Amino acid sequence: MNVLVVGGAGYIGSHCVRQLLAAGHRPVVLDNLVFGHRAAAPPDVSFYPANLGNEKEVGKILRKERIELVMHFAAYAYVGESVTDPLKYYFNNVAATLHLLRCMLGAGVKKFVFSSTCATYGTPEKMPITEDTPQAPINPYGQTKLDVENALKALARANGLSFAAFRYFNAAGAAEDGAIGEHHDPETHLIPLAIDAATGARPPLQVFGHDYPTPDGTCLRDYVHVDDLSRAHIAVFDRLSAPGAALFYNLGTGRPTSVLEVIRAVEQVTGKKVPYTLAPRRAGDPPALFADSTKAQKDLGWTIRYPDITAIVASAWRWHAAHPQGYARS
Ligand code: UDP
Repeated sequence: MNVLVVGGAGYIGSHCVRQLLAAGHRPVVLDNLVFGHRAAAPPDVSFYPANLGNEKEVGKILRKERIELVMHFAAYAYVGESVTDPLKYYFNNVAATLHLLRCMLGAGVKKFVFSSTCATYGTPEKMPITEDTPQAPINPYGQTKLDVENALKALARANGLSFAAFRYFNAAGAAEDGAIGEHHDPETHLIPLAIDAATGARPPLQVFGHDYPTPDGTCLRDYVHVDDLSRAHIAVFDRLSAPGAALFYNLGTGRPTSVLEVIRAVEQVTGKKVPYTLAPRRAGDPPALFADSTKAQKDLGWTIRYPDITAIVASAWRWHAAHPQGYARS
């Protein structure tokens, strides 16, 4: 299938591009390189450095490349920034996505795969989180993703759009061969920061909160390998053939892992100590978030090849060891 990967030079999008190629599809990348890296997309894949909200440009690409399905990874995703600068998030994550969708419908492209998030659930009372857990985001980032989910439902009913929205838990790790990986600027995620603390590339890690009602007092999260995430996006293709399909799936391993357990995994994999300090809680961090992904496993035959945090961290370490500065500036 000819697939436009919006945000295909970003962390999850670039891994998905490689998985698409491996599965025999033809990805085309659109990325404005605000956060993406040109080097993260294979040089022989068509690349358009455009904005997803530019209907004229995107319309041309959809027609020229005979696109049949669009995958959309291009969102801003810093929770704290979404609280201080919500307009930026509503414009990019909601408004620009609506332009993309209008453009798709205009060009007759009616299959869509959307990166959503467990942040749409807010702070649920019960764990693990199923797709039926009530959605109540606690920050504008989560709200923008939920707003798009709701728009998609309406477009499925009114326009016959078929879509899958994947609610990611904590995307982590890197491609097995270490060729592409996670490079955010600024970096706020636990695993890359812990690795950099171990190598001395950054200051000691701050562990945000150690008095949570969890076994070791630190937050529990569900780290899911980026290649596992990517494979689900392709496994859903068959289900998007029926017009108006509206599909929602959680993607996580279902295994809660604490911050201290991640630190231990980084120490084991790198053979280095992770220097850290115990710091106050970070605003907006729920004590525990982990998924029930039974639905994706049953419906899509989705399998988790990296159920174990050590293997996930090992893949992240391969990328970091080979690219200590991340990607060259693009
Ligand atoms: N965390 C931490 N120190 C850091 C970054 C993150 O203790 O420098 C904790 C954070 O409080 C959360 C977990 O690590 O409990 C995962 O955070 P991350 O930012 O990687 O992902 P999030 O769960 O916020 O999407």
